[in-house]
Amino acid sequence: MASTLTDRLSLLVKTMRGQARITESNVQDMLREVRMALLEADVALPVVRDFIARVKEKALGAEVVGSLSPGQALVGIVHKELAATMGEGVSDINLAAQPPAVILMAGLQGAGKTTTTAKLTKHLIEKRKKKVLTVSADVYRPAAIEQLKTVTAQAGGEWFASSPDQKPREIALAALDYAKKHYFDVLLVDTAGRLAIDEALMAEIKELHATLNPVETLFVVDAMQGQDAINTARAFKEALPLTGVILTKLDGDSRGGAALSVRQVTGAPIKFAGVSEKIDGLEVFDGERHAGRVLG
Ligand code: GDP
Repeated sequence: MASTLTDRLSLLVKTMRGQARITESNVQDMLREVRMALLEADVALPVVRDFIARVKEKALGAEVVGSLSPGQALVGIVHKELAATMGEGVSDINLAAQPPAVILMAGLQGAGKTTTTAKLTKHLIEKRKKKVLTVSADVYRPAAIEQLKTVTAQAGGEWFASSPDQKPREIALAALDYAKKHYFDVLLVDTAGRLAIDEALMAEIKELHATLNPVETLFVVDAMQGQDAINTARAFKEALPLTGVILTKLDGDSRGGAALSVRQVTGAPIKFAGVSEKIDGLEVFDGERHAGRVLG
């Protein structure tokens, strides 16, 4: 187990005792430790570089107050910058649309889209008192359609049937029509993922977006994806106007550096975190708390 960033920096502090400022000469060694900590937490390299540059700018010349050492002061600056970059959390699902408010779920296969669709269904029913319909536009995997049916029932929502011989756009329009006629507040649309980014997938989800005009387009990403999360995030950001991110599998042992990469690349707020396979395993994402985890 790697020692925490605070521990590592305190090792450096001995050589800096009595220094009341973070200076060009003492900051380099400290920033090297910060950089290592971020890379170990799986923050993508270009994101680490940008982040370190911002921290350096903020740190240089910062007065080290009271009994703090320059190392402790720098950890404080890093923590604050991490929390600010990842967002302060508490940004719930936007439902400000003519009902039904459509939520489009995007992400790679296995990221947790279907599970998260059910978790959100439960959240919207219980916390927001909404009437929720789900539909799967994954025409490539009949099992995915069945999976959504099962988990929607667990969540207490209603599921709209779709089948592999339909086109995703056709499914979307039928579900939307049904949701309107039956006065649903929210329509959650689960989509097909692929194991990797491909053109056809992106064209299809863009078409779904144009058809549905969703109020939320949520990018679901696996925190365990680590360094690769940045490439996935870039591809989805280019294809879709993302309005939010849901980071899944934060109950795993990753330090969750993907949060920083994805936030920086998409510019979209991380709204929720998946914290278990169970249907109630969804938490509001808290950037402040997550900063501590990334730092280790
Ligand atoms: P999809 O292909 O994107 O629809 O992904 P699924 O919803 O089928 O999820 C893929 C796997 O990840 C399943 O085994 C889920 O139970 C699991 N999963 C999803 N979210 C979480 C989470 O937050 N924590 C954990 N531990 N597992 C999750």
